[in-house]
Amino acid sequence: MDVLIQKLRDSGFKITPKIRAIINLFNDKDQYMCVQEIQTALEARNISSGLPTIYRILERLEQAGIILSFKNRERQVFYFLCRSHHGSHHHHFVCRKCRCVREVPLCTFSVIQQHIETQLDATVENHMLHIEGICSQCRLLHS
Ligand SMILES: [Zn+2]
Ligand SMILES: [Zn+2]
Ligand SMILES: [Zn+2]
Repeated sequence: MDVLIQKLRDSGFKITPKIRAIINLFNDKDQYMCVQEIQTALEARNISSGLPTIYRILERLEQAGIILSFKNRERQVFYFLCRSHHGSHHHHFVCRKCRCVREVPLCTFSVIQQHIETQLDATVENHMLHIEGICSQCRLLHS
């Protein structure tokens, strides 16, 4: 965790107590959360914060590449912490039962990219991949 905070500091990011509290929260919970859940969890730690402040912090952490977000099928937005320290391109797996987040430190997008570049004659600038399913622990519990 301190590695993450140090990385943020090194990139000129000012760590306020609320920013630290939000990073700690994600680190302790190891789950994805919506903004209301973040607010409630902060309150349980005696930190009161308005939703606009939380949104602003999440946005800044997202720009810094520490926090990522996705929309579920009901178009609800969730946030989670990226625990990778190397900063190279990778993906994440999220469990829809226990909401845990796992790093997937690779990408096999190149086949699709090649198709787009040769067949569509277009240039790929970025891509996102949302991978959702049931984690190994939840599979054991529910089988
Ligand atoms: Zn990550
Ligand atoms: Zn799970
Ligand atoms: Zn990728």
